[in-house]
Amino acid sequence: MDVLSRYELSKDDLAGWLGDGPRYRAQQVWEALYQHFAEPAEMTTLPKALRSRIEAELPPALTPVTEQVSDRGDTIKFLWELDGGARIETVLMLYPDRVTVCVSTQAGCAMACGFCATGQAGFTRQLSVGEIVEQVVRAARRGRDLGRRVGNIVFMGMGEPLANEPAVHGAVQRLHADIGISARHLTVSTVGIIPGIERLAAWDEPVNLAVSLHAANDALRDELVPINRRYPLDDLMTACASYLERRSRRLSFEWALIDGVNDRLQDVHELAERCLDLPLAAHVNLIPLNSTPGYPTRGTAPEGVGRFRDALVRLGVNATVRSNRGNDIDAACGQLAAGQSVRPVTLRRKP
Ligand code: SAH
Repeated sequence: MDVLSRYELSKDDLAGWLGDGPRYRAQQVWEALYQHFAEPAEMTTLPKALRSRIEAELPPALTPVTEQVSDRGDTIKFLWELDGGARIETVLMLYPDRVTVCVSTQAGCAMACGFCATGQAGFTRQLSVGEIVEQVVRAARRGRDLGRRVGNIVFMGMGEPLANEPAVHGAVQRLHADIGISARHLTVSTVGIIPGIERLAAWDEPVNLAVSLHAANDALRDELVPINRRYPLDDLMTACASYLERRSRRLSFEWALIDGVNDRLQDVHELAERCLDLPLAAHVNLIPLNSTPGYPTRGTAPEGVGRFRDALVRLGVNATVRSNRGNDIDAACGQLAAGQSVRPVTLRRKP
């Protein structure tokens, strides 16, 4: 990136950028950025010349394109344009007891899961630390305008976090050390990149890990989550087991219920067996598949979702159903496609 953006610099970089001047300056600017989520004009403790210099030399990385609010006003989706023109989305979710931001880690995604809108659109580029952190800051500002404080971050937006592990880890360090979000309120979701899981297990910040399972046998998972051909289930489960042994952090499995595909009794049994084989209990998050332009199959109907959950619970597995927030503004799981046109994969009949 040619231009240095506002949330890219480390604290030391910032001190260097400030050059001579009082020692407390760097700390003041740092607090303005990370504690007060301030724009330069609002940094009234700083001399005016410095505010102007920040404005001119450290521009924001994200240019707002649109902001959509769901019917009930509890979900806000931001579409941003990045340097170079790529677009990404961020979702702010307001719950009665907590506020969560869902951030993107890549523009597009190379994992090619057929049911996911981002996967259908393909990969554009990696996001930097500053581009990830700024999504949180901008969403947190919006939350603050509504009188709410962001306490949870999920790396479940566009992209595969563990295919951009250095920047994701850099962002995690910033969110944890500088914004002050505790590691147990940070969740990284992965398609199952084993070397990435191993690296994450060695981070100093004990974040939660979510693995997007969706199938518990290789034949079906190869189809739904193509990276499974490279990192098959037995190996993935071994990596999950060592993560659990190393950290007693929460491990969850994401399971998007697809009508007639992975919601059968056989799937319940296969999934339960995988979960019960682990050294510590894993938690299963069930989400009815959200429809996306490129994947015509429907999500499981609510009764089927309830049956699937009850059957898992009877077998001794913790399972909850996640609500698909923001459906009406295409901000629900797997729907983030940054307004790019996605060509539907339809089965065409020969004339
Ligand atoms: N690449 C990461 C994080 C991004 S997706 C991952 O795969 O985990 C966040 C979650 O939404 C994943 O569990 C993903 O499989 C799921 N998802 C993708 N498309 C979906 C859809 N159409 N309906 C429901 N969930 C979906």
